[in-house]
Amino acid sequence: MNCIFCHNNSDNSKSIEHIVPESLGNKHTVLWRGAVCDKCNNYFATKIEKELLQQPYFVSARRRNIIKTKKGRSVQQEVFLVNKKGQHVPAMFDYDGHHGNIYLRDIKDVDSLIKGGRVVEPIILEPEANNYILSRFLAKCAFEYLVYRTKEENFCEFSEYLKDEQFELLRKYARYGEGCKFWPYSQRRIYGEGDQFKDLSSNKSYERLNEMDFLSIELDRKIENGDEYLILELYYVLVILGIEYVIHIGEPDISGYHKWLQKNNYKSPVESIEDIRIPNEYEDIPLITEKLIRKLKK
Ligand SMILES: [Zn+2]
Repeated sequence: MNCIFCHNNSDNSKSIEHIVPESLGNKHTVLWRGAVCDKCNNYFATKIEKELLQQPYFVSARRRNIIKTKKGRSVQQEVFLVNKKGQHVPAMFDYDGHHGNIYLRDIKDVDSLIKGGRVVEPIILEPEANNYILSRFLAKCAFEYLVYRTKEENFCEFSEYLKDEQFELLRKYARYGEGCKFWPYSQRRIYGEGDQFKDLSSNKSYERLNEMDFLSIELDRKIENGDEYLILELYYVLVILGIEYVIHIGEPDISGYHKWLQKNNYKSPVESIEDIRIPNEYEDIPLITEKLIRKLKK
C-alpha cells in the first residue's frame, strides 16, 4: 500500500489517521491503517494539528466545551486573577465538568484569590481569520475525506484517479505547503456551541461536535459524441462546534461558494430540512471561587 500524501510504501505503518483530531471530539471518522504513512501522520500531528490546537480560539473552545485531550486530560487555559488593587495576575485554569482547578505561578498569588479577588477568563468565539495553519488543516481534511468516502475496498482504483491534477494541488498544499501561498476558505458560525439536535427516530437529543460533507456545484453540462459530461466544482464542508469551514477542492478560490450561498439564502450545505435544533440556553461559565480545588504549581 502507498501513502496518499507522499506516495511512499506504507505497508509497515502503524498509525490510524483521524480526519479531525480526537482532541476536537472525533472518534470515528478515521482512515484505515497505512492510508497515511507514519511519517505523514506525524508531520500533520506536530506541524499542523498541534499548532492549530494551541491557537487561542481552540484552547478557549475546548476548555469551555470540556473537550478533553487524546490522553483524557482537561484543557488548560490562561486566565487572570484580579487582585484588590486591580492588578492582573496570570494563572492557568481547567475544568473537568465537576471541578475547576486554578494553577498559580507563584504561591504569593493566592492572595489575589482569597482576598476577594476576581478571575477573568478570556472567551474567544472564532478562530483568527485568514489563518494559514487552519487553511492547511482544511486542505488535509478535505483530501483525506475524498479517500474516506471511497472506502478501502474501492481505494485501489480510486488512488490512480486521485493523482489527477485537479487533486494534486490540494495534496501538495496540505502536505508540503507548496503550490500556493495561502488557500482561501470560508468561515462562519451556523449554530451555537452546545446547541442540541433532536433525533426523530429515537426522540433523543444530541450534540454535534463535528460533521463534514461535500458540496458539488454544477456549473455546466456538455454532450460530446452522445456522452454527457458535468462540469462541477467540489467543496469540502467541515463544521466544528457550530462553525462552518469550507474549502474548494479544485483550486485556491472560494468565490464560487460565496455565490452559491447567496443563491441558497445562506443555508449551510450540512443543514437538513429534517434538522430540529434546540438552541443552548446560555450557560454560566463555572464560577471560580476559593471553594474550588486549587493546585499550586511549583
Ligand atoms: Zn506519507
